[in-house]
Amino acid sequence: MSDHNILVDVRNLKKHFSKGTDIWGRSTEVLKAVDGVSFQIRKGETFGLVGESGSGKSTVGRCLIRLYDYTEGEVYFDGHDLSKLGDKQLKPFRRRIQTIFQDPYSSLNPGMNVLDLIGEPMNIHGLYMKEEERKEVVSALLEKVGLKREHLYRYPHEFSGGQRQRISIARAVSVRPDFVVCDEPISALDVSVQAQVVNMLEDLQAEFGLTYLFIAHDLSMVRHISDRIGVMHGGRLVEVADSDELYDNPLHPYTKALLSAIPIPDPKAARERSAFKYDFEASGDKQHAELREVSPGHFVADHE
Ligand code: ADP
Ligand code: MG
Repeated sequence: MSDHNILVDVRNLKKHFSKGTDIWGRSTEVLKAVDGVSFQIRKGETFGLVGESGSGKSTVGRCLIRLYDYTEGEVYFDGHDLSKLGDKQLKPFRRRIQTIFQDPYSSLNPGMNVLDLIGEPMNIHGLYMKEEERKEVVSALLEKVGLKREHLYRYPHEFSGGQRQRISIARAVSVRPDFVVCDEPISALDVSVQAQVVNMLEDLQAEFGLTYLFIAHDLSMVRHISDRIGVMHGGRLVEVADSDELYDNPLHPYTKALLSAIPIPDPKAARERSAFKYDFEASGDKQHAELREVSPGHFVADHE
């Protein structure tokens, strides 16, 4: 795609895992974790990717950051086909593309203090190598993510889950990336801090001109932050639309089912909702059809 507004262009991405091998070591069964996914992310936007656990969201994210080699398809980042680049050519992209994961505890080395944790990506990319400057830059970042200078020499176990996620976010933005893959960044946090972290991600996006892929298993978590949303089911996208359009006018039965799983405080509405259940098994191969554009920017897979 030659459109300069597109930062990430995913074309027919497939990632198959081998599930077992026969006595000759040949693979017997494949697990199609991602099975033909195409979407684009524009510069400065947030693209939400939702779907239940196991639908292939994280695998898409890992392919985008080249943590996985993919089975088929292409991923273009700012016009470059990443799968064609060697380690040396990939280096600038390893700075430009950063990630935030669900569990900030396992992604932060418990033996490193905050200064070293946030400084680590800077070391890798040779940024702010002078000690005093490093301390200044990290302190400023800490304040931006709602922490304090006094936290510089503390260790991960001294922080709450929400604070640890703030440290992970500071780490991710420390090297001035263009694109951040946020894989369920608020799913493990208390409901009371989820909105704060989302607001902070939005502030950082505005300040640094970031583009986000925001992964979640729950539509209610992505609505506020996403400009557009893709709904994944069984390794495929079943619907893509602007965020509000997807909520106001969901077309695919799977999207409707996901929406109906949003907690509803009213018990009567909750009872009515539970009466609706979509039979995914019976829908068989229908969901594997191509996406169709039903109104400008609203795409849906064929269904009953
Ligand atoms: P999600 O993030 O939507 O929960 P994942 O992308 O993690 O889904 O997983 C999609 C499917 O791929 C699951 O069935 C999962 O078990 C499988 N899978 C993910 N990573 C691997 C891997 N490294 N090896 C084998 N199977 C995997
Ligand atoms: Mg996942």
